[in-house]
Amino acid sequence: MRIDFVDLKRQNKLYKKDLMQVIENIVDEAVFIMGDPLDRFEKEFATFCNKKYSVGLNSGTDALMFALLAHGIKPGDEVITVPNSYFSTAMVISNIGAVPVFVDINPVSYNIDVTKIEEKITKNSKAIIPVHLYGQTADMDPIVAIAKKHNLAIIEDCCQAHGAKYKGQIVPYTETGAFSFYPGKNLGCFGDGGAVVTDNEEIKDKIMLLRNDGALKKYTHKIFGYKSRLDTLQAAVLSFKLKHLNEFNAKRKHVAELYLKKLSDIKNITLPKEMEYGSSANHVFAIQTKDRNKLQEHLEKQGIATVIHYPTPIHLQEPYKKLGFSLGDFPITEEFSSRILSLPIFPELTDEEIGYVNSKVHEFFA
Ligand SMILES: *Cc1c(COP(=O)(O)O)cnc(C)c1O
Repeated sequence: MRIDFVDLKRQNKLYKKDLMQVIENIVDEAVFIMGDPLDRFEKEFATFCNKKYSVGLNSGTDALMFALLAHGIKPGDEVITVPNSYFSTAMVISNIGAVPVFVDINPVSYNIDVTKIEEKITKNSKAIIPVHLYGQTADMDPIVAIAKKHNLAIIEDCCQAHGAKYKGQIVPYTETGAFSFYPGKNLGCFGDGGAVVTDNEEIKDKIMLLRNDGALKKYTHKIFGYKSRLDTLQAAVLSFKLKHLNEFNAKRKHVAELYLKKLSDIKNITLPKEMEYGSSANHVFAIQTKDRNKLQEHLEKQGIATVIHYPTPIHLQEPYKKLGFSLGDFPITEEFSSRILSLPIFPELTDEEIGYVNSKVHEFFA
């Protein structure tokens, strides 16, 4: 048996007729930049997130960066986030000349350790980016309290958390969140895509300018902006897929629950734990074991693809090492990155395949 880590072909095959129709409609209309399909998707996605506005962009990375810019984050400002995320969570902070201030993770939730945030706050702290990693939310209420006390903006990195909930509320739990529609995400398009979702009209307006060369009206430029719109074609694809997102997420939950049930008797692995405060979007299913590399090799030989999210923590990536970060700075993240292994998870993964992965993991530890 051969099991890909994420097999996008299955979903495309399942909905091929509908998707080709969606694409054909755009080709027939020949509207490729902005236009009704983008407006429509933005409204639908804002509604899905229970927010007033969403602004389609060309990536999750730009969604994070524009959210920072729209909040007035400037060179020299400090932005708190985690070293255990995809690189661009921190990269965007550095790209605008601000300074990422890393806080280690909670070993159970894999997300920011809320007890370690306040010690990192200085007079330059301006914002915090909690990451809802693997689809599980960070513990938001303590973050909200700290942000209020120290007057910090909160920008939630929801790039892996479409549909995740914190205390019954879909993320972003606070005013503003950044999403990615990279093909493998819970809601993915046929290329790069992203969005900022917000209840704040001013933030929405600023991001509308930032994404379109600083203009709302053609040839009338208000600021120096960027070129980062969500393609109309991608918006149309996303509108179609959004209708199925709850169903996709339910299927992911089924996969995660089945793994949890089947793997629970193996002493040498630590399984992910769903925190009581929330409901995960189950983007990634990461187990931990000290025999990670050997387990990965074993599964590969049996035709099972796995991924490490992430093999090198952000602070140990070259550009941050040059800024003076080094091994030992964030011990929990570092230990974690040496132990984690993400098993295949996607909505179309069958029970039989989950059973196969389970039997091969058991075989390794037997
Ligand atoms: C995917 C991802 C991003 C970046 O999104 P892109 O669309 O690839 O730019 C940022 N943060 C996290 C946690 C992600 O998973």
